[in-house]
Amino acid sequence: SDGDGVTADDVDKLSIHFPLCMKSLHSALKRDSHLKHMARIQFGLFLKGIGLSLDEALIYWRKSFNRMTDEEFQKKGYAYNIRYNYGMEGKRTNYTPYSCVKIIQSMPSSNESHGCPFRYFSPDALGEMMQNMNVDQVSINDIQLKAREGHYQIACTALFEATRGKAHEQAQQLAEPIGHPNQYFDYSLNG
Ligand code: SF4
Repeated sequence: SDGDGVTADDVDKLSIHFPLCMKSLHSALKRDSHLKHMARIQFGLFLKGIGLSLDEALIYWRKSFNRMTDEEFQKKGYAYNIRYNYGMEGKRTNYTPYSCVKIIQSMPSSNESHGCPFRYFSPDALGEMMQNMNVDQVSINDIQLKAREGHYQIACTALFEATRGKAHEQAQQLAEPIGHPNQYFDYSLNG
């Protein structure tokens, strides 16, 4: 990357710092070479928030949608939507990345992948995802319970701590719960 800017090529290696909602979208994009509209907005604005410029975003999304031609990518409005996120089209609003509250409120239908996994994943799917992240079973049980009780951001905070081996060290727990996916990313990258 040049200076503070994140490049298209940096996204994969930075994904270890993504919260579960964005890890899930990143994996879905890799698996399907595509994301639906709401997922593109949620993930695209998050990437903008971590420092991906418009030019690099266009490179990243074009590269990720690798089962379509350049013509389809332009014609179906994908490039337009990306420029829109950056305030270069339509109302020219400079959109900011979605907060947890906004993401949690947005429930995906069965063929969509946006939203907050702590809300819409089954306990088993959540457990499997955390096992793949080498989270210990005690923490997994605790996080599944918090999610089931509707404490999604508390569950997310507990996962953050568990992935850093801090889950059972009171002194090192975060002072306040995760409220924004980009906050999670910043804590993970810098903290
Ligand atoms: Fe993402 Fe927030 Fe849900 Fe965590 S609590 S997975 S950061 S929406």
